[in-house]
This record gives sequence, structure tokens and C-alpha cells, in this order.
Amino acid sequence: MTLILPGIHSLDQHITTLLSNPESYRPRRCPCGHAKLWCHGCYTRQSDRKDLGEPCLNPVPIPRFYCPECGCTCSVLPECIPPRSWYLWEVRQVILLLLLVGNSIGRTHASNCSRACRKTIERWWRRFRDCFPTFSSHLLPHFPCLGRHAGFTDFWRSLLGLRPLSQAMCLLHQEKVTVP
Ligand SMILES: [Zn+2]
Repeated sequence: MTLILPGIHSLDQHITTLLSNPESYRPRRCPCGHAKLWCHGCYTRQSDRKDLGEPCLNPVPIPRFYCPECGCTCSVLPECIPPRSWYLWEVRQVILLLLLVGNSIGRTHASNCSRACRKTIERWWRRFRDCFPTFSSHLLPHFPCLGRHAGFTDFWRSLLGLRPLSQAMCLLHQEKVTVP
């Protein structure tokens, strides 16, 4: 099972917080209700794909916890890392914004420096469009002011003007919605 710690917006912040305040990652409760989870090491993700000449942060440690009551383990991702993707939410936010203002897939691919391939960008875009009815119905209660932006493009442009994509995806994940 994967939980997400809100408010961690970058890999730098994640690594600093893990070192300075590792307790902030410990879930208050297991889904079974038990309150005292044990630290259970880390696994690593290769989430740093910027390749901009800065020191690479890979491998990125992701803390795990164990519940002595039900025997389940869980990992706790920082908000900036998607549960099922190599690319950070910030990478996908840039791509989504480029597409939302009307760029074609080809132009978006040519102008982004994420190295995400054209097929990947196409897949993300399709998923966002397909999932819009589900995503918007779960996000609207959190952002009632978006109610007047009923369409896909206006809704996402307005939301991303208010909050980062990672925060929207974190809210969806907390409501058990599968995020792309
Ligand atoms: Zn448990």
C-alpha cells in the first residue's frame, strides 16, 4: 500500500525532510486502525530525471512502515512523486500546461526538456482527458470556485493556477482514485 505525504514539493525537500524530520513520514494509523507503526527500512526510486547538469539525487529513498497488528507494510511517498510513474508531477504539470494552451503533442514534445517521449506524452494527455469526469467530480468539493469552469481545458487551467498538479493528485489518491 502507498500513502502520500502532502506538502513535499521537490526531491530536495523530500531528502532534507527525511534527514531532519523522518518522523513526519510515519503514518498516524494503519488502515486497520492500529496506531503504532514501526519503521521498516526504505526502498529506492529513480525519480530524478532532470538531467540538467545538477548533482543527481538518485537513488531516492522512500520510507516503509510495518504494522505489528495486521502484518501489512506501507510506503510513504512525498507528494512530488507519482505512485506509478518515473516522472515527477512537476514534469507532467509543465507538459499538461503546454497542451492546455493549445500546443500540439509534437510541439509539446519538442519544447519540453523532460525527455518524456512522444508516446508517453500522448498517453498522459489521453488519460487526463478520459479521467476528467472522475477527477473533476472528486476535486470540485475541494475547489468549489472551479464549478464555473465546467469544461476540461478551463477546469485544469484554473486549477493549476491555484495549486500544483501534485496537490490535486494527492487529494485524488487520498480519496482512493487511481491517478495516471
Ligand atoms: Zn495494520
